[in-house]
Amino acid sequence: MTGRVFLAFLVVLVATAAHAAAVKDVRSKMGSRFEITAVHDREAAAHEAVEAAWAEIDRLEAMISGWREDSETSAVNRSAGTRPVRVSPELFRLIRRAVKVSELTAGAFDLTFAGVGDLWDFRSGEPAVPGRERIAAALRHVGYRRIVLDEERGTVFLDDPGARIGFGAIGKGYAANRAVFVLKEHGVRGGLVSAGGDLVAFGRREDGEPWSIAIAHPRDPKRVLAQIPLTEQAVVTSGDYEQYFIHDGRRYSHIIDPRTGWPASGLQAVTVICPDAELADALATATFVLGPEEGLALLERMEGVEALFVTETGEVRSTSNIRRHLKQEDQG
Ligand code: ADP
Ligand code: MG
Repeated sequence: MTGRVFLAFLVVLVATAAHAAAVKDVRSKMGSRFEITAVHDREAAAHEAVEAAWAEIDRLEAMISGWREDSETSAVNRSAGTRPVRVSPELFRLIRRAVKVSELTAGAFDLTFAGVGDLWDFRSGEPAVPGRERIAAALRHVGYRRIVLDEERGTVFLDDPGARIGFGAIGKGYAANRAVFVLKEHGVRGGLVSAGGDLVAFGRREDGEPWSIAIAHPRDPKRVLAQIPLTEQAVVTSGDYEQYFIHDGRRYSHIIDPRTGWPASGLQAVTVICPDAELADALATATFVLGPEEGLALLERMEGVEALFVTETGEVRSTSNIRRHLKQEDQG
């Protein structure tokens, strides 16, 4: 009797596993390649969930985009130095969390970096190093302390007419978090969201196995540095290899030290692993600025945050808890 009940139970389990459908979709969002994979018992429901996640990402892009005239972010930037702007509670909270990361990282992460960051052009591929005077002048408009938040009124004010905010280093992480939230809300039991390479995984794959991610070497994508099983984790990499130019033998890449106005140096890449994609995104950018010593020390102190660094000389370093996932030759 018990045996038959058990058998029936087993059959149901197998049946569900067999019916799970994984839907994968790729689209261009926020200027990057986004990828969503959703595992659901019914394929139609998986498609619906993925559509809802795309809609959510579009909604966020309309809120944080700096080049869309009609975004809340553009309204804040237009009113810099003149008046506070009332924003949605959602944007207010996002900015407040971003400012917290600035405080945590001694200003290495800074939403106002664009005041000086815009002097650098990494997209055209034309090497152009701005003059020191221009950098010094632009730096006067940079600093997260220029962001004045009024909790009561729900307003954001940039207290310098030349200041502006940009979400390039945190927006994709937030979007990934929100996409996962929407997928779960739609009954998706396992999924993977890649927001321009910022990854979040939850639940399990279609075949019941855990998701797993390979972290590749920034200078040699075929060389796997670590293979990490993921459950409810985000993995975000900031590196110097996607947007950069080389001038007089020096590599200049798109992450700017907001305190000097110059591209950060010292690392080829940093990968941050923690449950929150938004935090991972911001921390990856911040530690890229802080460099291997200070960056590693900061992340080692943070509970639930792990990281893998490749220094500018190619040395692989990591926080202690993920050392066991490193390929043998990089352990140490
Ligand atoms: P990516 O978006 O290329 O994956 P990041 O998350 O590290 O990489 O974000 C880099 C982007 O963030 C830059 O292109 C720029 O828009 C912005 N940014 C650069 N330096 C900083 C900084 N110090 N603080 C905040 N944002 C920054
Ligand atoms: Mg980032």
